[in-house]
Amino acid sequence: MTVEAHKETLGFQTEVKQLLNLMIHSLYSNKEIFLRELISNASDAADKLRFEGLSDDALFENDSEFKITVDVDKDAHTVTITDNGIGMSRQEVIEHIGTIAKSGTAQFFQSLSGDQAKDAHLIGQFGVGFYSAFIVADRVTLTTRRAGLGAEHGVCWQSEGDGEYSLETIEKTERGTSVVLHIREGEDEFLEPYRLRNIIGKYSDHITLPILMKKESIGDKEEKEDSPESEFETVNRASALWARSKSDITKEEYSEFYKHVAHDFEEPLAHIHNQVEGKYEYTSLLYIPSRAPFDLWDRDSKHGIKLYVRRVYIMDDAEQLMPNYLRFVRGIIDSSDLPLNVSREILQHNKAIEHIRAGSVKKVLSMLEKMAKSDAEKYTSFWKEFGRVIKEGPGEDFTNTKQIARLLRFSTTHTDDETQAVSLAEYVDRMKPGQEAIYYVTAESFSAAKNSPHLEIFRKKGIEVLLLSDRVDEWLLSSFTDFEDKSLKSVTQGELNLGDLEDKKEKEAQEETGKAFEDIVKKMKAALGDSVSDVRITHRLTSSPACLVTGEHDMSANLERILKSAGQAVPGSKPIFEFNPEHPLVLKLKDESDDSRFDELTQVLFDQALLAEGGQLDDPATFVKRMNELLLSMAK
Ligand code: ADP
Repeated sequence: MTVEAHKETLGFQTEVKQLLNLMIHSLYSNKEIFLRELISNASDAADKLRFEGLSDDALFENDSEFKITVDVDKDAHTVTITDNGIGMSRQEVIEHIGTIAKSGTAQFFQSLSGDQAKDAHLIGQFGVGFYSAFIVADRVTLTTRRAGLGAEHGVCWQSEGDGEYSLETIEKTERGTSVVLHIREGEDEFLEPYRLRNIIGKYSDHITLPILMKKESIGDKEEKEDSPESEFETVNRASALWARSKSDITKEEYSEFYKHVAHDFEEPLAHIHNQVEGKYEYTSLLYIPSRAPFDLWDRDSKHGIKLYVRRVYIMDDAEQLMPNYLRFVRGIIDSSDLPLNVSREILQHNKAIEHIRAGSVKKVLSMLEKMAKSDAEKYTSFWKEFGRVIKEGPGEDFTNTKQIARLLRFSTTHTDDETQAVSLAEYVDRMKPGQEAIYYVTAESFSAAKNSPHLEIFRKKGIEVLLLSDRVDEWLLSSFTDFEDKSLKSVTQGELNLGDLEDKKEKEAQEETGKAFEDIVKKMKAALGDSVSDVRITHRLTSSPACLVTGEHDMSANLERILKSAGQAVPGSKPIFEFNPEHPLVLKLKDESDDSRFDELTQVLFDQALLAEGGQLDDPATFVKRMNELLLSMAK
């Protein structure tokens, strides 16, 4: 390998500049978190080396005592955070420190409005990380060497956070990373060791490695250069938080640990801590974030569980530990039954892992169910962030469908409120005597669902209907077909049979009208030809003239549109045209003697029905022409 000893100056990725700006403006009231972020990175770096070292002893370079040192030099106006973790190569420095390589970055920048005050809260959701150093420093010097590379492969990175950074190859005997913060004018409080100890106690007590600082008495006075080890002391608790007993851990400690593992800035919504004994022994400490991360819908978004084996960090992103529909859960699982050299391949067919996963999923689902019962407001906020992900559950996790079903929340015609807050149990409680099915309508938007003509008869009879407008709803319905022995039924599919909800009189009246309209039905069929599979009188409508219905076993029109917009070929089934025999337009049509006008008007009714349910006309120009002709004939 050749060493690029030269010094070069490189520009930050545009996004980095933007991020730095935003961060400095939004975190001015919470500057101290820079230390938490840098210590968190140092701890991750040690974890990574510990793991890589399991398969390559040489990486430890005869030193496997991991530690983090925080040192102050008042004269030089600097705070230095040093670790003996994995370190970085020159290329890694460019990739990790000069660019933002996080998934979700694109979504984050898209969501920015440009209004700093408005955007400020988003930074917390995105995470701040290394760049938070620039909140308190006007210059940051990072020196690093990757474990296993020779001393001549050290790298010195330096920047004033203004758009550029310099990079130089240097000699560095100790592996790992050292970050020197040249503290800004006016931020002198961060040069006080007691202040730093305080911050560490507040945010980083749970870090499992020792964090060392100079002993007070020595640190305060004129100190010699390079103090010997013995003059340092450990200032954090340095034990695995999850291994301690629950009663011993404060809310703040749980919360700070969350921020470290989840790289999140905000408080978690809830946590669950379990120490399981028995055939398999493991501890899990799992969190529900308050807000969805930016990459929640990225195909390659990371799963949030870190795996440990007997306190030793093994890997991030252990996707075998949580199913996809719980990908937002963050935290750690520490197993006593896995070998230390466990690989991703081994995880895939491992009895202990299967057991841990099943147990953890149950715990998360139960926690959510409890939350829903005890704190409806909190649950509503959870549902708003993650409901659409939970809806993937029944399609993925058949063993827990019943439990997931109890977690589902919907908008319904009961309140017509867009906030999804009605549970299926509530729906069932409110069902009308004689009602057998749980009715729903799917549409592309909430207002399209709410205003669907198909709901007219249901509203008239006071039958509640679920209003489904999330894309994932169609997917949910394909695997979720009943709840407590009540089947879910679309109001736009198949013949409408309200069973006992209609009385005998109504049924007789319907039969009579059917006879009276037999000829009209025939004429309409002829007029609509190939566009429909059938024409019939409707019992669904009270105020609209017509609507379209899909066959009992056909794909719903909404799903068809979703698939088409995703570029998929769909077989394209023909709808059934249903018309309302009591509507004035239909009555007018019944008396129409001019055949071509009859055909035109029928066609308009069909097109309108298609538009009303969110469909697209094959030939909009002709529709407009027909409408205009009709309007003109009215004016005559
Ligand atoms: P995050 O930690 O959320 O990924 P950061 O901006 O804090 O984001 O860090 C970016 C990357 O830089 C890290 O993922 C890591 O790869 C690298 N890095 C930062 N600090 C260190 C360190 N002390 N030792 C080794 N690598 C580091």
